[in-house]
Amino acid sequence: MSHSFIGRYAPSPSGRLHIGNIMSSLLAWLDVRSHDGTLVFRLEDLDPDRSDYEYAALMAEDLQWLGLYWDEGWFPGNGSEYTQGARTRLYDAAFQVLDEKGLLYPCYCSRSQRLAASAPHPGEERDSSCSCRYMTDLQRAEIEAKGRKPAWKVIVPDEVIEFNDAHYGVQSENLKTQGDFIVRRSDGVYAYQLAVSVDDAAMNISSVVRARDLMSSTFKQIWLIRTLGGNIPEYAHSPLLVSEEGRKLSKREGDLNMETLRKKYTPEQLLGHLGEMCGLLDTYRECTALELCQEFSWKRIYKDDILISI
Ligand code: GLU
Repeated sequence: MSHSFIGRYAPSPSGRLHIGNIMSSLLAWLDVRSHDGTLVFRLEDLDPDRSDYEYAALMAEDLQWLGLYWDEGWFPGNGSEYTQGARTRLYDAAFQVLDEKGLLYPCYCSRSQRLAASAPHPGEERDSSCSCRYMTDLQRAEIEAKGRKPAWKVIVPDEVIEFNDAHYGVQSENLKTQGDFIVRRSDGVYAYQLAVSVDDAAMNISSVVRARDLMSSTFKQIWLIRTLGGNIPEYAHSPLLVSEEGRKLSKREGDLNMETLRKKYTPEQLLGHLGEMCGLLDTYRECTALELCQEFSWKRIYKDDILISI
């Protein structure tokens, strides 16, 4: 039983972890530890322009500082097979399966391309609608003659995907609502949605815990995993942390990141604040991650956005 419960950290090394990232990492850790499972660290470094390995090392160090250890995967200088940059062959194979199923078409729009390799967080909305699917071969040839390289989009069916989120309950959406999406950029870099689906299936991940801003990506990923023929994990999304102005945090804003937090708090103090903010502790007290594990149940975690109170 313990061996079949596998969770993961999947950070992108694009900045220092902020308090929101830490909250979802803590909940991923608690979810795995309370099931006596295995925690995998996978580095989501798809986009060469947005990946900085100094950040990756700092992320690992920040998690260890808090006592949020993982069991296998990437460690600084080790486990490169758990970096997405080294897993291209798996994505190539998945891309080929989609192609053989007739589900891919070239897209010449540039709008949402740049961002496709990273997970869609707030403030990075992408417009996926375009008419490239209906181009004739002649139109395609004309564009390509001008030297334009296409991105590749996958055709989604008119189908409702439903899943039972371990925290937010039943979620359902028709794939057509968000529309066809990019699986490979025109420079050959694979998109987040494809890579994360392939990796979660290949690593036998049974429980995905991540922030709620990725809820809408889950429909795509469930469908992709099913289409590619893998086991679909359970998903548990965690509430978002917002600042007083209601602003969502981003790694690129540098606010409340681990550099600042580690100067102000000890690990036990920071975990105490996180425990109180998410609903696990009735009142603030210093505690370790293992102590929080004794209190952990998704039922106790708040569902609404959490106002940062440190
Ligand atoms: N790599 C993504 C991020 O850092 C997380 C993806 C996921 O958990 O599915 O935002």
